[in-house]
Amino acid sequence: MTHLIGGEAVYKAIIEKAVDKAPMNFVFDATHLYQLRYDKGTKDGLNWITNQALHIVTTDKRYTTPDQELNFVYSTTEDYEKYWKFYYAKLPYLLFYAVTVIDEIVFGLLPEQIDHKRVRAYRRIIVHQVFRGVSGLAEREEKNSFNDLLAELIPDLIYTCTSCQAQIEPTVDDLIWFAFNNVFLCPNCKHDQLGDPTFRLKFHELD
Ligand SMILES: [Zn+2]
Repeated sequence: MTHLIGGEAVYKAIIEKAVDKAPMNFVFDATHLYQLRYDKGTKDGLNWITNQALHIVTTDKRYTTPDQELNFVYSTTEDYEKYWKFYYAKLPYLLFYAVTVIDEIVFGLLPEQIDHKRVRAYRRIIVHQVFRGVSGLAEREEKNSFNDLLAELIPDLIYTCTSCQAQIEPTVDDLIWFAFNNVFLCPNCKHDQLGDPTFRLKFHELD
């Protein structure tokens, strides 16, 4: 069980400060991050399920082991489905946050690599939007699909190809390709725009 030195308010304040410092931090919610990582009173966080995983029987009234049961011992196929759903709905968000904090620290030591940091942050935003769509988060926020979420990013990324001079409006598929492959290819001539400092500046403007 995690003991919070300084208490809940201190941990929340630390997360809030970290989120404030993060680039493109509109995807993060400090309260939700706190709940996920530390809040013992919610089934929206990791505490109850990790505690059940560590203890064969749990007596905490918020996640008591049912009578004639042992935690995870007699799980059915349906239970496993639920565990996987929970895992994929919760963990990616926490990992996005963790990598963002790590990048801030590491790239703080490498100021000349600021473009690289911003491109990484932007790729994470795209993957995050895909995750929100796939995990059902977007649906709960009444957005239609991850296509719609990604389409919102496109107007800021229209560019003139530095190689063939064509005016290009990227597609959602282009964004996903960029996020997973770290190349931003012109559909006309296949030139990778990331080699162009002017193009990389676009990622500085998106906060
Ligand atoms: Zn081109």
